[in-house]
Amino acid sequence: MPELPEVETTVRGLAGYLEGQVIARATLNRPDLRRPFPDGLVQHLTGATVTGMGRRAKYGLIHTDREQTMVFHLGMSGRWRIEPEAIDKHDHLLIETGSGHILALNDARRFGSVDLVETSQLDTWPQFAAMGPEPLGDAFDPHHLKAAFANRKAPVKQLLLDQRIVAGLGNIYVCEALHRAGIKPAKHGGRIPLRALERLVPAIRAVLSESIAAGGSTIRDYAQPSGELGYFAAAWRVYGKDGEQCGCGGTIERFVQGGRSTFWCRRCQK
Ligand SMILES: [Zn+2]
Repeated sequence: MPELPEVETTVRGLAGYLEGQVIARATLNRPDLRRPFPDGLVQHLTGATVTGMGRRAKYGLIHTDREQTMVFHLGMSGRWRIEPEAIDKHDHLLIETGSGHILALNDARRFGSVDLVETSQLDTWPQFAAMGPEPLGDAFDPHHLKAAFANRKAPVKQLLLDQRIVAGLGNIYVCEALHRAGIKPAKHGGRIPLRALERLVPAIRAVLSESIAAGGSTIRDYAQPSGELGYFAAAWRVYGKDGEQCGCGGTIERFVQGGRSTFWCRRCQK
């Protein structure tokens, strides 16, 4: 499943083809993904100039000079294909730029989504309105987590996956960040001291930044816009490594929390 780093990598990859470009043609090959494509999407995109690109949590943003932003989510299996040699049956939205580049939004399982939102209304768009700060942004700091975790008995891992506390963190990155910060995933959020949160925030940023730098991760059906796979999985320290030795000499264990696998080391995570 594309996670925040993959979405960031995708947005950066697309920006090279879209920013400043006129959309000469937009084509829909089916009426819906997870939900129907928005009414008038083709008309809104055709002839518009892309003024910028961005990301909020795991959503990619394509801003146009028509004060509209196309918001896309890659769901479970979505990806953008650049200059596809042949159109695939899962290329559901095609965009052709004025300079002749073709970009295809491909989504075999169709858990993704595309929406059109007025650019000035993005912050209050229902999917964004209740979201916590971006983990790579300035508003995300140890004091924010201290306040968000206050009196919470839920495990810290569950709290970090709560999009209202911090936006866009997925299972893999939370496991890795807790390991780097030396924090036990099952620990009650409200019992984590500020000094541990002062390790956790930079650990979260580091795991995400390293993954973005590596070009995403190798989760099954994700490919970068260039079609190349990333290689960050090789650098994971605990995720998917149950039974293997931790860097501290302990043994990595797996257990299930809230229906998701947690990987951790009881020797170095307290
Ligand atoms: Zn360890």
